[in-house]
Amino acid sequence: MSNQFIAKEPVIEDYWRAIILFGRNVASYKFALAKSLLSLKPEAGQLLKLSDLAIPFSTYLAEHLRHSPKQITASSSKFLEACKRYGIDEPNQNRLIEETVKLGFNNVIDAFHIVGAGEVAKKFYIDERVVNNGIRITEEFSRLIERIQFGNLSAEVESRWNLVETAWGLGISSNLIEIQHDNDEQTLFTLDSARRRKTITSCRGALNGYQKGKCFYCFTDIHADDGSDTEVDHFFPFVLQKDSTFKLINGIWNLVLACPQCNAGEGGKHQKIPTLPLLERLSRRNEFLIASHHPLRETLMNQTGSDLVSRRHYLNDYYNKAISKLLHSWEPPKKDMECF
Ligand SMILES: [Zn+2]
Repeated sequence: MSNQFIAKEPVIEDYWRAIILFGRNVASYKFALAKSLLSLKPEAGQLLKLSDLAIPFSTYLAEHLRHSPKQITASSSKFLEACKRYGIDEPNQNRLIEETVKLGFNNVIDAFHIVGAGEVAKKFYIDERVVNNGIRITEEFSRLIERIQFGNLSAEVESRWNLVETAWGLGISSNLIEIQHDNDEQTLFTLDSARRRKTITSCRGALNGYQKGKCFYCFTDIHADDGSDTEVDHFFPFVLQKDSTFKLINGIWNLVLACPQCNAGEGGKHQKIPTLPLLERLSRRNEFLIASHHPLRETLMNQTGSDLVSRRHYLNDYYNKAISKLLHSWEPPKKDMECF
């Protein structure tokens, strides 16, 4: 029997992912360039002119600027001003492309392949801006496109981009962003670079966007704004925290807004486990928040899984473990029409 360590050769998508996940970020241009390459799917040997690259590149940036104004760590950028002006405020695609060719690629084309102290060993293009006003696609990029994992790469770039811009918007390091819930204050918070708490929002406000003023379980009207009749409820009961196999019980994925009756009233949930149709409803709610570019999206994905299959598996597994501990299941008496 062998007891030697075995070194696994990195495959081509390892290099790509290293760039996306571990490359340095001072602006989000790297993500825009990565998404542009993945959507254009140029072939090996092809020259991609900056003017062609500028179309998806500036479109992605303008899209992101619309929901997340902070796309750079510096206080201002002439290029981003142009993206706002010609991509959003007074749409003019020709001007936007012109400005992008002039200003947009200055740092990103050089920096794209740098991870840590230097460039990665496999490159996806060669810089030919000086002679040909563009970049030359390599064999490596073609090999990346042929890989079975190719379909996931664009979503991964998007997810990383969202996380980074959320962190910048909050003024914290993207490595630290993990939104947590404070049970006493009923607020969502994260920790800044000095591990100090930063309250993000009231938990009620964040959850009510989906529930639209209704109890998660029975659809009774609640007043999430003043909180007088609204409880932040742990779908899987908080008491499970005593058992260390139940992780992240305070995670946003497990929190809903409920009326006092359902939460702890007579015939209420107390320490029982909601039934499978309610688990289905929880899954729908989490998927909705993930799909709608909610600020909690990255936290939900970090907590329960990066794709739908693994998230459903996570919930199902949690359910089975929880029911084997607490034994009783619960659902509310039917009252109003289902509305989510
Ligand atoms: Zn209720």
